[in-house]
Amino acid sequence: MFEHITASEVAGYAVGALLLSATVSATKIDSFISTSQRSSLGMCKRCGDLKLVACAKCKGSGLIKEGGPFNLIPVIDENRAFGAKSKSSSCTNCRARGHFSCPECSKLP
Ligand SMILES: [Zn+2]
Ligand SMILES: [Zn+2]
Repeated sequence: MFEHITASEVAGYAVGALLLSATVSATKIDSFISTSQRSSLGMCKRCGDLKLVACAKCKGSGLIKEGGPFNLIPVIDENRAFGAKSKSSSCTNCRARGHFSCPECSKLP
């Protein structure tokens, strides 16, 4: 039976279990801290420290091509007539800049 197990032995098991769980949680906490340290000290998670985020609408080009794939239909003469102006317009989403200031970085003081 369990009569031969003394109180100190039980305590020893308890401490062992506590140490084990403490070690496991300490590892988790350590990785959590290093992750947050990385994001606060190092690279921006959003823009990779470029301080800029590419516009999703124009894919960073600052121009929106109108007409989609049908724009491939030759319109050379038309373009010449309009002074080689391509059938693309400035992206209104980013004001033709192609990027925004990173909201994550600009949030920092
Ligand atoms: Zn854009
Ligand atoms: Zn950023």
